Amino acid sequence: MQKKEVLIIGAGLVGSLLSVYMAKRGHKVKLYERRPDMRKETVAAGRSINLALSDRGLKALEKIGLADAIREISIPMHGRYIHHIDGSSAFQPYGKEGQFINSVSRGTLNKKLMDLAEENGIEIFFEHKCSHVDWKTNTVSFETNGKTVDVKADLIFGADGAFSAARLQHQLQADRFNYQQFYIDCGYKELTILPNAEGDFAMHVNALHIWPRKEFMLIALPNLDKTFTCTLFFPFEGPQSFSRLDTKEKVKDFFEKTFPDAVPLMPTYLEDFFNNPTSSLVTVKCYPWVREDKFALIGDAAHAIVPFFGQGMNAGFEDCSVLDDLMEHHGDHWDAILEEFQLLRKPDADAIADLAVNNFTEMRDRVADPKFLLQKKIEAKLNEKFPDKWIPAYSLVTFSPHIRYSEALANGMKQEAIMQQVMQRADIDSRWDDDVLHREIVDQL
Ligand code: FAD
Repeated sequence: MQKKEVLIIGAGLVGSLLSVYMAKRGHKVKLYERRPDMRKETVAAGRSINLALSDRGLKALEKIGLADAIREISIPMHGRYIHHIDGSSAFQPYGKEGQFINSVSRGTLNKKLMDLAEENGIEIFFEHKCSHVDWKTNTVSFETNGKTVDVKADLIFGADGAFSAARLQHQLQADRFNYQQFYIDCGYKELTILPNAEGDFAMHVNALHIWPRKEFMLIALPNLDKTFTCTLFFPFEGPQSFSRLDTKEKVKDFFEKTFPDAVPLMPTYLEDFFNNPTSSLVTVKCYPWVREDKFALIGDAAHAIVPFFGQGMNAGFEDCSVLDDLMEHHGDHWDAILEEFQLLRKPDADAIADLAVNNFTEMRDRVADPKFLLQKKIEAKLNEKFPDKWIPAYSLVTFSPHIRYSEALANGMKQEAIMQQVMQRADIDSRWDDDVLHREIVDQL
C-alpha cells in the first residue's frame, strides 16, 4: 500500500483516534490542535465533563486494540437510576442481562487517546489553529504564536468538531455544498455531586442517574474521582427556563422543589450554576463530506448531533472503523475510499441525528400525554414478552453495533406506525395488557 502524508485537523476524540487508525495502516500522520496540550494543564478535580461510551464506540476502539486501555478509565453503568420529584427512586436495568454503557471523562479519554497516538509515532502540534486550506496545492494554514505556518499533505481530514474551520474552507470553495444547522430551544449546564463524608460515591455508582421532569431533566454520570458530573438540560426561555433563574434565591427555590434528593449532595450547586456556562445544543448536517481523493470531514465536523442518545462520540468512532474497513477493501484508491465513506456514513449520520432530536421532542412534547404514556407501557410489555422481535430504538443504537443507525431508525419508524394504528382502537384502554393483542401487534412486524 502506498504510504501517504496524512494531516488531521483537530486532536479531539475523533481526530486522535483516527490518527492511530491511519498510523496502523503505515501512513505518516501529523495531528494539529488549536488548544494547548491538555495533558500539561492542571484541571480542577471533580470538574470533568463525562460521556457515555457504548458498544459502537468500544467496537471501534477494540478493532485497533485500544479498548482495554479505555475500559480502565471508564465506569460501567448497568441501567438508569430514576429520581422522582417526591424523593423516591427506582433502578431500571438496560435491556438484557450484562448490557451496560460506560461513563468516561472527556478530558481523561482525550488525554489517553493523545498518549496512544504518540506511542504510535504520531506528532501532535498544539496551539495550531487551522485558518485556511488551499485545495489546489493541498496546503493547510495554521495560526501559531502570531505567525502563519503552511503545511502540505497528501490527505487531509477535518476532525475539528461541530464548528469546524476545515468544513468552512471546504464549503467556501465547493460547488453545491449543502449545509443545515439547527439549534434546539434547550441548553445545558454542568453541576457537580461531590463524594460523601466517607469519601465515597454519594449515590449508586454503576448507573446513569436521571431526574426526569417533563420539559427538562437533570442527569448524572459517575467519575473515577468519586464525584458525579450532573448536566441540567433546560429550556432557554419560558416559565421554567434559564432566563428566569437569574438570582440565587430563585435557583435555590427551584432546585429544592424540583430535585429534593440531589440538593444535599451538591453543596456547590449555586456557585456552579452561576459560574458554569449555559451551552447550546446544535445539529449540523452537511454534504458532500469529501473532495476527490484528498479530503474528508469526520466526526462532529461532518455530523454534530444533540446528546439525547449519547451517540455523538460513538458515531465519530464508528466513522473511523468504517473508514478502516474501506481502506482494507479499496487499498490505495483513495477516491473510492472517500466516496464510499460518505455514501455509507451520511444516511447513518442523518439517522442518529434525527433519532436524537426526536427523542428530545418526544420527551418535551408527548411525555405528559396519557395516550403516549399508555403506548410506551404497551411497548415495554412487547419488549419484555418478545425481546428479540420488539426492540426499542435505544437498544438497537446502544447495544447492537452490527445494526446501522439508519436501520435502527427505520425499525423505530415501523414500530411507531404500527403503534399509531393500535392506539386508534376504541378498546385500547381496557385491552392494552391483552396477550392476543400483543401477538397481533408483533405479527405486523
Ligand atoms: P471535538 O470533540 O469537538 O474535537 C474537535 C477538536 O478540534 C478539539 O480538540 C478542538 O479544539 C479542535 N479544533 C477546533 N477548531 C480547530 C481549528 N480551527 N484548528 C485546529 N483544531 C481545532 N457523545 C457520546 O457518544 N456520548 C455521550 O454521552 C455524549 N454526551 C454529550 C453531552 C453533551 C452535553 C454534548 C455537547 C455532547 C455529547 N456527546 C456525546 C457528543 C460528543 O461530545 C461529540 O460527538 C464528540 O466530542 C465529537 O468528537 P470530535 O473529535 O469530532 O469533536
